[in-house]
Amino acid sequence: MSEGVATLCGMTTEQEPALTYSARTLAALTANPGCARRALLDTTGADKAEVAGQLGFPMPSGQSRFAITRGNAFEAQVKADLLAITGHEEGRVAEVALRLEVAGQVVGLEPDALLVEDDDLLFVVLAKSFPIIDGRASPEKVSAAARQAAVYVLALQRMGRAVSEEVILVCPENFSNKPVAAKVDVRRQLSVLARQLDRLPPAEGDGADPVAAAKAAQARYAPECLAACELAFFCRDEARREGATDAMGRSVRDELGGVSSVGEVLRQAMSGTGGGVADDETAELLSRAWRLRQAALASTAGTANTAGMAGVAGGV
Ligand code: SF4
Repeated sequence: MSEGVATLCGMTTEQEPALTYSARTLAALTANPGCARRALLDTTGADKAEVAGQLGFPMPSGQSRFAITRGNAFEAQVKADLLAITGHEEGRVAEVALRLEVAGQVVGLEPDALLVEDDDLLFVVLAKSFPIIDGRASPEKVSAAARQAAVYVLALQRMGRAVSEEVILVCPENFSNKPVAAKVDVRRQLSVLARQLDRLPPAEGDGADPVAAAKAAQARYAPECLAACELAFFCRDEARREGATDAMGRSVRDELGGVSSVGEVLRQAMSGTGGGVADDETAELLSRAWRLRQAALASTAGTANTAGMAGVAGGV
């Protein structure tokens, strides 16, 4: 970080954050705030892809070389004509070293976003290589970009900077390379992110052995992890080996009211008693579901038997 930029942020170079996060990392961290494993690795700055590899579950590489090159070329094109593309011809390109407090410590943010300052207001600009076709883009990709942009907006707000809560997304138009800008309101993502960041427990552990630390920390796997976290294959395998209900998704886990293992679900369903893990209401619901299933299986078997008998009778 240059002295000038550091001063702009109210920091001295001696106060440079020890860790630097990407906005994608932070968005993923807050996507699963109950996961102590992810929080531990992120707050100690461990290389999660490296840890996943050492645990025997490397993440497949994401984008193809072609897609990365195309994305970089598009971003360079956007940077070269940023003010005109974003409609802020009177503004200026701003450079701010971003930092944010995460789990009780100040971290730096990788400068993946571009900033335009116009009329004393900063605008976060994200250049993305997915296309906007006839004014529409993939909703999943737009919301991932919005979550990412919200990290930059929140960082700027917490640094006391005036920043728009509408970010500017710049994408190729209709499969061409022509950049087109669209405004995205990130107020909702911002409030979710702020709430989840504020709830993160203080960082623990010194990251001396990140593999051992990852194994020891409590995880909270959900299928959504596959799209957001480098350790997803390891955690999925662990959840399956432990028969964790987490592996079936958050909605199933919530419906089960805190029953954490498939074995316990089956025990409660067959016995109708809670046994201290879940309340009796959940056990009663599970038991009723079990009886309905048994009745449905019995009736299906009866229908099959009748059909079989009819077939035999018809064949005589
Ligand atoms: S993949 Fe594992 S470490 Fe990553 S957020 Fe999910 S449960 Fe946590």
